[in-house]
This record gives sequence, structure tokens and C-alpha cells, in this order.
Amino acid sequence: MLRKLLGRVDDGRFGRALAGMQAGWKWKCRMRQAGLVEGFVRHGSKEYMVVIEQRGRCGIARCGCEDAIKRGVLCKHVAFAAMSELGLAAAARSAHRQLPEL
Ligand SMILES: [Zn+2]
Repeated sequence: MLRKLLGRVDDGRFGRALAGMQAGWKWKCRMRQAGLVEGFVRHGSKEYMVVIEQRGRCGIARCGCEDAIKRGVLCKHVAFAAMSELGLAAAARSAHRQLPEL
């Protein structure tokens, strides 16, 4: 679901999320359960709350930033959160642990 969600992020925002990863943005997960993840993306002095939720086979996402609220798009923070969760799930699998499926 997270990969499908990432597929719906436009190229510019996806690129900015990757740049954020290189620049050391932080993903702080507050809640993770089957079909729902919630947390904060931090960079510099800014912090945005991101919620990603499974709806059927798709995902919906919300972020507190202006881009997401005013334009109704999947913003760079959502992309960053989704990439971070995919990375954490992959790391957990490598360590033979299992995170709730998203
Ligand atoms: Zn955002």
C-alpha cells in the first residue's frame, strides 16, 4: 500500500522527499498498527504531523503542511513518511521481526 501511495506522489514532491532523506529529515512514528501509521516529519525547526491510512487496497494520507491542506495533494512529507516506514519494515524483516502490515 505504501508503495502504491508513493506512486501517486508527483515527481517534484517525490524528489524533494528524497532530498530531505539525504538532508537528514527525521520520521518519528507515534502510532503504528495494521492499516494505520501516524507520526511526525521533522526538519530544521519545522514539524508536520502525517497520517497514512489504508482504505481498501489504496491508501489515503494527511499532512499538516500548507501544500497538503491548500492543494489537497500528497506532499513531500507524506512521501518521506511512506519511504521511512518502508525502510523500517525492511529493516525489521532483515532482523526477523515483523511490523504491522501497511
Ligand atoms: Zn506535508
